Amino acid sequence: MRVPLLDLSEQYGALAEPLRREIDEILASQEFILGPRVEAFEKSVAQYCRAQHAIGVSSGTDALLAVLMALGIGPGDAVVTTAYSFFATGACIARVGATPVFIDIDSATYNLSPQQLEQFLEQECQRGSDGRVTDRKGHIVRAILPVHLFGLCCEMDALEVIAKHFDLTVIEDVAQAIGAEYPGGGGAAKAGTMGVAGCFSFYPSKNLGAAGDAGLVTCREESLAQRIRACRQHGMEPRYFHHFIGGNFRLDEIQAAILNVKLPYLDQWSAARRAVADVYREEFTRRGLAERLQLPAEPFRDSGLVNHHIYHQYVIRTPQRDELREHLTRREIGSAIYYPLGLHQQQCFAYLGYGEGDLPETERAARETLALPIYPELRREAQLHVVDAIADFFSARG
Ligand SMILES: *Cc1c(COP(=O)(O)O)cnc(C)c1O
Repeated sequence: MRVPLLDLSEQYGALAEPLRREIDEILASQEFILGPRVEAFEKSVAQYCRAQHAIGVSSGTDALLAVLMALGIGPGDAVVTTAYSFFATGACIARVGATPVFIDIDSATYNLSPQQLEQFLEQECQRGSDGRVTDRKGHIVRAILPVHLFGLCCEMDALEVIAKHFDLTVIEDVAQAIGAEYPGGGGAAKAGTMGVAGCFSFYPSKNLGAAGDAGLVTCREESLAQRIRACRQHGMEPRYFHHFIGGNFRLDEIQAAILNVKLPYLDQWSAARRAVADVYREEFTRRGLAERLQLPAEPFRDSGLVNHHIYHQYVIRTPQRDELREHLTRREIGSAIYYPLGLHQQQCFAYLGYGEGDLPETERAARETLALPIYPELRREAQLHVVDAIADFFSARG
């Protein structure tokens, strides 16, 4: 039995009719960019996430860029983030001319470790008389960019305390966590509403996927929302008057229309992903594999929140990762490595001067993690086939 890592065809089949109708209407209207469907989508996401403002943009990468640009982060500034994320998280910091500072992760959740972050700020930074925090190279530390990796929220209360103490802005990378909830001391909150801004991606393979590139920014403050709106159109306000340099970060009507059709199903899809994760946990546990494989942590499971995890990926860990992956490939079972290299070890960031062993938990995760098939329509039989194959792998090794 072939089991792909991700299969979007069934979802399309179920929604083909309304999706095609929308696209036909857009072609008939010839209104392609920032029209009524983008506005409707922004309203719906703001409502869904309980966010003040939502601004549709062209991708998750551009959401990050637009926020950093709108906050005026640039040369001479540093932004601290996790070393274990998709490349865009670190790259956008560098693209605006600022310096990314990579921090190690928590070994159970793979998210930015608040302890490691605090240690960096306490031990490797200085606080000037003006309250500004500077790193050893003299960059002003401006912001923290946590990533809610694989669909699980970061420890936002701990990060918030650190951000307050060091007067840093929190920008959330929500590309993998739309709808995920965090049971904070201040009450439950959705990912993207805990920092000054949240950056979303609707890349086709994300939990809410467009038919191309698309993204969105949520934010609390009206003034920042206005700046981001201007930023997505080259910093223009009004037409042809430019106060600062932005980019072409516009969202188009076809993507927005597709996302409008899909958004009402998101919670049901997230529930289906959690059900898949539950089957994996039960079956791995039943076969005595829960000890040999580190299964995903669910720190918020008992919080009473429905979307305590939205399982963008189901990631297990074993020191025999590479052999296991080869074994699964031979059995036609899809898997993926997110990510094979920490951001601090990417060649394009060599100038930052990180070396092997600097961020040991990130490096260990890069060697040991493996993402297994997960999507709302994944059948139980297919899942059991995956578990069987993994059980066979370990039983052959005693
Ligand atoms: C997908 C992703 C992005 C980038 O989003 P795009 O829409 O592909 O530009 C950024 N950060 C993380 C963590 C992602 O997973």
